Amino acid sequence: MSKTIWESFKEKGISRREFLKFATYVAGIMGLAPSMAGEIAKKMEKTKKPIVLWYHGLECTGCSESFIRSNAPYVTDLVIDVLSLEADDTLQASSGVMVEEGGKLVYPTLDINGKKVSVEFNRHVHKIIEEHKGEYILAVEGGIPLGNDGRYCIVEGKPYKEVLEEAAKNAKAIIAVGTCSSWGGIQAAKPNPTNSVSMDGFTFGKPLIKIPGCPPIPEVITGTILHLALFGMPPLDDQGRPKQFFGNRIHDTCYRRPFFNAGQFVEKPDDDAAKKGWCLYKIGCRGPTTYASCGNLRWFGGISYPIQSGAPCIGCADKNFWDNGPFFDRLKGVVLPNVEVNADKVGVIAAGVTAAALATHAVAAGIRHFNNKEED
Ligand code: SF4
Ligand code: SF4
Repeated sequence: MSKTIWESFKEKGISRREFLKFATYVAGIMGLAPSMAGEIAKKMEKTKKPIVLWYHGLECTGCSESFIRSNAPYVTDLVIDVLSLEADDTLQASSGVMVEEGGKLVYPTLDINGKKVSVEFNRHVHKIIEEHKGEYILAVEGGIPLGNDGRYCIVEGKPYKEVLEEAAKNAKAIIAVGTCSSWGGIQAAKPNPTNSVSMDGFTFGKPLIKIPGCPPIPEVITGTILHLALFGMPPLDDQGRPKQFFGNRIHDTCYRRPFFNAGQFVEKPDDDAAKKGWCLYKIGCRGPTTYASCGNLRWFGGISYPIQSGAPCIGCADKNFWDNGPFFDRLKGVVLPNVEVNADKVGVIAAGVTAAALATHAVAAGIRHFNNKEED
């Protein structure tokens, strides 16, 4: 925990050259110029591995599933060499008493089959919270149920909201990972029977970064954590999302945009237009209103994203997206281009969009290049 990031790399026998390559790569992920690599390397030489506690509320753990598929950097490098991930119920090998250290009475005396039993309970996380007040990053996945006094999610025998409160009050900063902790998520969808809420009411004055998405792109999660660890708070938009990952609508970077601009639309998921790869707006695409990096970073190391596989964007990073359906109904309020369908026009517009796409794909290309360890 007290090692710097560089010391941790060195211990594993990673060369200085590989380390600098990693720094260049990190610059790309954080949306910084490659020339910042030297600065990042210096930071990683001095910065102690940041302590991260990852909490889980009401959720599906899909965000963790996404996180562990990060290959920019590989999550094994991130978790072992860059971060000190001290608690994560989904990823840690042990559970229950294995992550608890005796000493502190948390439970009242229990009555088990007529026998009075006192349970000593002091989880590893409580020790971290106590010893590193104001130093650790709290990553939160999942919504927080307030209904029925919080009993819809019990952790350590207590309502989750109480456990979360203790961790949030003493954190350095909080990251809401995913749509559930950012906006409330699926459990907060109408009629919200558990009265689930987002992290908004649980910040206790600590800075909050929101990374919505169901789930978010893995490199957006790792890039945000790294930015916070090395440079502090990233620039945020008015909804608390990092601008470098949420500054564009999916529509702005979509490779199908020339078809939108030319008025060429898919009318049914299996029609000829769908086979030709035309715009998915008329079958519900939420790209025109959804801010996220899917169109440029893409998924699985930049290979694809839903629109590329023929499915309209369902706006999973949007506020209340579960209530914004039905997903295959056309989005209202979008001004359509007033054009005659014209194949030549598509070609002209496509050239412009290709130029923009080349720029936005630079990061994804960087990811693929770095990950090809055989290269050079
Ligand atoms: S945001 Fe989506 S993927 Fe993440 S935990 Fe919630 S439901 Fe699962
Ligand atoms: S509506 Fe959807 S498919 Fe069409 S250009 Fe916009 S984001 Fe792409």
